[in-house]
Amino acid sequence: MSALRARARTLAAHLRDVRAVARKLPDALVLLDRDERMRWANPAAARLLDVVWPRDRGLQAFARFGGSALAAWLRIDAPDIDDVDSPVESGVRLQLSLLPYGEHRLLIARDISRISRLEQVRRDFVANVSHELRTPLTVIHGYLELLDPEDVPTLAPVLNEMRIQSQRMRQIVEDLLELSRLEMQQRLPEECVEMAPLLRTLRTEAEALSHGRHRIVLADEADIDLLGSPNDLHSAFSNLVSNAVRYTPDGGVITIAWRRTDAGAQYAVTDTGHGIPAEHLSRLTERFYRVSSSRSRASGGTGLGLSIVKHVLNLHESDLRIDSELGKGSTFSCEFPASRLLERSVGE
Ligand code: ADP
Repeated sequence: MSALRARARTLAAHLRDVRAVARKLPDALVLLDRDERMRWANPAAARLLDVVWPRDRGLQAFARFGGSALAAWLRIDAPDIDDVDSPVESGVRLQLSLLPYGEHRLLIARDISRISRLEQVRRDFVANVSHELRTPLTVIHGYLELLDPEDVPTLAPVLNEMRIQSQRMRQIVEDLLELSRLEMQQRLPEECVEMAPLLRTLRTEAEALSHGRHRIVLADEADIDLLGSPNDLHSAFSNLVSNAVRYTPDGGVITIAWRRTDAGAQYAVTDTGHGIPAEHLSRLTERFYRVSSSRSRASGGTGLGLSIVKHVLNLHESDLRIDSELGKGSTFSCEFPASRLLERSVGE
């Protein structure tokens, strides 16, 4: 009997230790039962979520958070979310996760206000610098365009190189501004993007860029349109096509495809180019990340194309997928959910 009592005492001591640690955690913890009622919360939950223990014992979480973004998130059973306003103070930004815990769920809220502010400072800085550089670069570029290399043949190579480089700088600035604009958007305009003419334009653009050096194949098999921003989708799709042309040696084949899948429809660009070593794949959408800087510069890119593509796709509930085999080629694809697809009307 005394052994049992000793064991009970040890267990109670363990439980006290666990609760003491949870009380000290800077993250808010709220234990929810099967009916989303609050069973326990630590002190940080009062500061970050206004869930006060034991005042709120047994209250339903939805009811506690009213009509806030947090209540909506709890209801739809979504994955973790970043950067949500705290229901206590609007300046406080939270990262939320919901972990299954036996029959219960553990709501965890972390204060990410500092990271969120730093992100904002970074975004503003990039946007401001790009904006400030735009005017002087336009002026320099304008003067360079006025100078005719034929008037000063000795300086012709220098002038040509200056033109190329100033155009490159202008393109980098334009791409940075484009990225800043996309980063600031929560959503993009939603219109019917007619895929048949868009795909034909993409093929024409590929042919113009390739100058007959590649075979361009169009596989428009889905017979369905897309809901989204026509300009942004055009820019993202065309970026993948231009990469395929630029990174595929002469004689290669580039296939632009639009096909139905089980969950929706897929846009894919496949090339028979150099391919990309596996260790680079996960980093390709980072700004200025390149597999080979000399090859990329020579091909005329800014190193920002795939970052832009990723942002546009994310704003259309899609992700960029990259499959590649060294020496054989690559496929850049993205799948759109059924909710974004529009059946073409009869006669089109
Ligand atoms: P860049 O302007 O340098 O092309 P991107 O962001 O468009 O920048 O692409 C990033 C890098 O990914 C490129 O520098 C290149 O190394 C690699 N890459 C992109 N598309 C392809 C492709 N189709 N085949 C091989 N490598 C590619």
